[in-house]
Amino acid sequence: MLGTQTSDDFSRSFAFTTKLDAIVAWGRKNALWPLPYGTACCGIELMSVMGPKYDLARFGAEVVRFSPRQADLLVVAGTITEKMAPILVRIYEQMLEPKYVLSMGACASSGGFYRAYHVLQGCDKVIPVDVYVPGCPPTPEAVLDGVMLLQKMIATQQPRPWKDNWKNPHDQA
Ligand code: SF4
Repeated sequence: MLGTQTSDDFSRSFAFTTKLDAIVAWGRKNALWPLPYGTACCGIELMSVMGPKYDLARFGAEVVRFSPRQADLLVVAGTITEKMAPILVRIYEQMLEPKYVLSMGACASSGGFYRAYHVLQGCDKVIPVDVYVPGCPPTPEAVLDGVMLLQKMIATQQPRPWKDNWKNPHDQA
């Protein structure tokens, strides 16, 4: 022990205290692994969010995965047709827990200008959405804002009843 320092003083000089779930949430929010579900023009805009100018890597979310089993953030970017809906649900189900969904743009969030029988009027008809980013297409800044909002939700461990009460709409039981 150094000089007259007690062991308590010594540990206080470099230790910090926190709750385990707070530190886990901090890790989760800074290590999102996105899966881009790009079906239309918003998918192209999403590429610029990943590119060097806007650089999603600054938010710890640059490890893009094309396997749902390696991803925890589903970014729905584009029009979802009724035919695609079961595939989107399958992908969502295969993702790791805890998982999050960001709906990017008017088409993903509401069907956009496609008021048609074959287009899903919002991906939240089949999967639980955490953050909606408006726009057609949303600007990269708006997408980054959506990611930061999601990070805030994760850090504060926001309750997500839409996720907890979600049921696969294609389950017959
Ligand atoms: S919201 Fe606009 S930019 Fe995005 S997929 Fe739909 S039409 Fe394209």
